[in-house]
Amino acid sequence: MAVKIVDEMCKGCTLCVGACPFGAIEMQEGIAVINEQCTNCGVCIDTCNFEAILQEKEEKEVKDISSYKGVWVFAEQRQGILQPVAIELLGEGRKIADEIGVELAAVLLGDNVKYLEKQLIAYGADKVYLCEDRELKEYTTDGYTKVLSQMINTYKPEIVLVGATHIGRDLAPRIAARINTGLTADCTKLEVDTEDKKLLQTRPAFGGNIMATIICPNHRPQMATVRSGVMTKAKKDEARRGEVITVAADLKQEDIRTKVIEIIKQQKSIANIQEAEVIVAGGRGLGKKEGFQLLEKLANKLGGVVGASRAVVDLDWIDHDYQVGQTGKTVRPRLYIACGISGAIQHLAGMQGAECIVAINKNPDAPIFKIADYGIVGDVYEILPLLIDTLEKEDI
Ligand code: FAD
Ligand code: SF4
Repeated sequence: MAVKIVDEMCKGCTLCVGACPFGAIEMQEGIAVINEQCTNCGVCIDTCNFEAILQEKEEKEVKDISSYKGVWVFAEQRQGILQPVAIELLGEGRKIADEIGVELAAVLLGDNVKYLEKQLIAYGADKVYLCEDRELKEYTTDGYTKVLSQMINTYKPEIVLVGATHIGRDLAPRIAARINTGLTADCTKLEVDTEDKKLLQTRPAFGGNIMATIICPNHRPQMATVRSGVMTKAKKDEARRGEVITVAADLKQEDIRTKVIEIIKQQKSIANIQEAEVIVAGGRGLGKKEGFQLLEKLANKLGGVVGASRAVVDLDWIDHDYQVGQTGKTVRPRLYIACGISGAIQHLAGMQGAECIVAINKNPDAPIFKIADYGIVGDVYEILPLLIDTLEKEDI
């Protein structure tokens, strides 16, 4: 949809030059000219009072999308263990499926993973598409892409949700490209337009400064990835009953170009901040790496773990595994204590779902106070020892 200037209509008023956010319009011999910086965003069109700027429409291939029905969740399992994000997506998928009156299905790929069917149904799936094959025992990009793409082409779901895990981030774009549809990565909110069943996929854009809602109107399925911890987990109901459809893999060894020789688990002694009920998080306001020792003391007293802002991860004060936020982890603890964290939008994106937020910051105008349930204006090195002392005295 290229944007063009109609030379004969241009009066050289220069209004559009200032309107373009990308500096893509310049004046040459009294006429506006669009340069290679143009993103075809179309912002300039309405600023021209002389209809001298046009957006050329491309002829679009119109696909018949009416045969696509149902919501699918990719039931990611690793070594036979269902990943928490799959349970969260079943909860979200159930809501969407009920709103548009269709079935929710879980898609389970692996080897000897049949026993997970019951769990998937208990967590809300009406159907489980089960594909078992020795070649699917370990995740491979080629194997999983081939099988899942074929299943989508055969059964035609209208929505496919995938966890934004390392596997999901590798798999989902491959499938989207192969079956010629769109994909919105790292969604933080999913809604559905009940009139035309359009999935409204919201995610942070431009470094988290705006939230963009993206639709996929002309292609099916509508595909989205969602990070772990963003959606609430589905409730388990062992009494639920569902149907299991077994699908053959049709995989040949030559379909898979990589071979998994061994899986070596990284040895880590850190707590999983996404499962923690209490997080005491530190930011640049701690002033030094050693500040985390104080945070750890408080976290231990409260039965929690420490977390961190990106600023301190970038300073190498703490490992990236502890980072909360848009490019870190999304957490939903019962209590989140933010110490010396300003409250940048990218940090809030990862922790605003906490039940109770306490902020300690020297600056009374710090943005973190806007979302905090309790705010303490003061120096972390004065407030934290007081809190720890009180907990010790009260023997809590
Ligand atoms: P600062 O913004 O420097 O804030 C320090 C705060 O400490 C200040 O408010 C100050 O008043 C207070 N303070 C100073 N001394 C004391 C004291 N003694 N006692 C009490 N308070 C004190 N950030 C994340 O956290 N997570 C992300 O996932 C993330 N992803 C990003 C992705 C992108 C694409 C971009 C562009 C940025 C991202 N960021 C992320 C960075 C984010 O924009 C901020 O820069 C970062 O969160 C700031 O960290 P901070 O609050 O620790 O530091
Ligand atoms: Fe600038 Fe957008 Fe107009 Fe292109 S379409 S010239 S980027 S305002």
